[in-house]
Amino acid sequence: MTEADYAALRRRYAQERAKRLRPDGNDQYLELKGPFAELLDDPYTERVERDPKRDHVTVAFIGGGFAGLVTGARLRETGIDDVRIVEKGGGFGGTWYWNRYPGAQCDTAAMIYMPLLEETGHVPSERYAHAPEILEHCNRIAKHYGLDEGALFHTRVTDLEWDALSCRWIVRTDRGDEFTAQFIASGTGPLHVPKLPGIPGIETFAGHSFHTSRWDYAYTGGDPAGAPLEGLAGKRVAIIGTGATAVQCVPHLAAACQELFVFQRTPSSVDVRDNQPIDPDWFAEVATPGWQQRWLDNFVANMMAGEFPAEDLVDDGWTDLAKRIRGRLAEARSASASFQELLAEFEIADFEKMNEIRSRVDTIVADAATAEHLKAWYRQLCKRPCFHDEYLEAYNLPSVHLIDTDGRGVERITPAGVIVGGAEYPVDCIIYASGFEVGTEPTRRSGFDMTGRGGVRLSDYWSAGMRSLHGIHVHNFPNLFLVQLGQGANFLPNVPHNLIDSARTVAAVIGHAVRGGFDVVEPTAEAVEAWVEELAPNPVMTSFQAQCTPGYYNNEGHAPGPHSLFGGYSRGAAAYFRYIGQWRDSGAFEGLSFSRRPPV
Ligand code: NDP
Repeated sequence: MTEADYAALRRRYAQERAKRLRPDGNDQYLELKGPFAELLDDPYTERVERDPKRDHVTVAFIGGGFAGLVTGARLRETGIDDVRIVEKGGGFGGTWYWNRYPGAQCDTAAMIYMPLLEETGHVPSERYAHAPEILEHCNRIAKHYGLDEGALFHTRVTDLEWDALSCRWIVRTDRGDEFTAQFIASGTGPLHVPKLPGIPGIETFAGHSFHTSRWDYAYTGGDPAGAPLEGLAGKRVAIIGTGATAVQCVPHLAAACQELFVFQRTPSSVDVRDNQPIDPDWFAEVATPGWQQRWLDNFVANMMAGEFPAEDLVDDGWTDLAKRIRGRLAEARSASASFQELLAEFEIADFEKMNEIRSRVDTIVADAATAEHLKAWYRQLCKRPCFHDEYLEAYNLPSVHLIDTDGRGVERITPAGVIVGGAEYPVDCIIYASGFEVGTEPTRRSGFDMTGRGGVRLSDYWSAGMRSLHGIHVHNFPNLFLVQLGQGANFLPNVPHNLIDSARTVAAVIGHAVRGGFDVVEPTAEAVEAWVEELAPNPVMTSFQAQCTPGYYNNEGHAPGPHSLFGGYSRGAAAYFRYIGQWRDSGAFEGLSFSRRPPV
């Protein structure tokens, strides 16, 4: 490639971005309430009536996904037996409870994506496990650690209140529970509140519709394991959105519908998946004690430009770009390049990678015009990279129609169907693959607020953004622990790594408090202050995102809002994991204060 090619790509990327930039940003999306509230109903599990809880537990964990499971597991290992998980869904699994759409599978290697493989003895069946196996693994973890005993499902926490006299939290739920917990932990997930596209007329559609995170198998037929969607034979179906979810379910819809219309605003980059069964003999060789942590550490090191690990255990599409960048940086460094020159090498590696991904479309999609529309014109990490070996192929079926909106989105929904470019596409069913809320207030997304020491409300304390120590502890909110991405490693290619690591920290701190007979643990104001200063936004990341096509990674193309999903340790995820590991292992828990309840 020449300088002129680079300049042409920069121009094209900027034009495509400009087409998509909307003044309403995040406000373009609709909440699933009012006429859409029923789209939130749980289609998978019957609600079971039960008596409200009025008792006390040592730890209550809000959320029964990976965060709650791994934290519960580590707490059990620490000797804390009464951990109560409170979960809005009808079972464990979090994102894997809700996302049962056909074709759902992990996008990061199962060896590092599925937590506690070593502890539970499970051998993933494939390099990228499918959703039913991951959901089953969630239940395996729950059972293995006895977390299933006493978990409260179909239960939404509505309010948490710190009682300074008893040094306990009061937990209130929508099932009339009002119980106490010495410690509260929360892991409600970064992407769990479904959103709808704010398309004019959306409420008028007279056919059937649902969001991908509440897949209606009663309508489509089939099942999450991939049985054919027989209910769609003879149906004209629209799917709106072409993000990571749509990429995985479109091939299944394509195989079943009489006609499938895929409404696209921005194409995803779709690289090779290369899924393979995992050979148990190979696994037995690899799985020597401590293997999973070694794999986790190796993946994060391989994803970080500043780290130079000797081997790449996962070796997939995620590490490929990082390795290319590193290769170029290594060459440039030896020629003592400036920082700007290093960034230029990063950009060139990205151009090359995206050119390969765009060329891949031409090799698969037979119709040249359709192929052109499926090409992504932005840098690979501007949007969630996708990997799939049947998605692009689906567009070769005569029954599958890509309706590209040239960045503008669907124009209107009518009682009969979907309008784009003035043409109406009548359909029986609309499937919304429109993603999840990001960037809205954390208390809006979690669905509950909490009152800490001295009556401070978390929504007020965080009105200008999150403030924490290590992304886990919050001043004025004693005995509260957050298990999530923000203000910690913020490592997105393998989200569970954040949770797995924070679980260790939470268990270490709670274990120390319980063993030492401490009633209260809380970060000092100074420690939080100092940590928040450590998190100064990385200027390279900020300018990278400012040039990206709009999406949830960059606050829909606007300056980062106070509740951005991004914002972690400024030295990077690998450095955070090293730092926090040492902090935890030292046993000094610097920045936290442990105290006993004053005698009454
Ligand atoms: P996304 O937010 O990634 O995608 C939403 C889609 O809806 C986008 O294509 C968006 O277009 C489109 N859209 C929004 N408004 C309109 C409109 N008015 N007209 C037409 N199209 C519209 O949601 P997903 O559910 O696909 O994925 C969310 C995240 O969940 C992923 O990024 C990933 O982090 C995670 N995920 C992980 C998986 C895994 O690990 N296995 C699998 C699936 C999801 P535009 O791009 O222009 O905004």
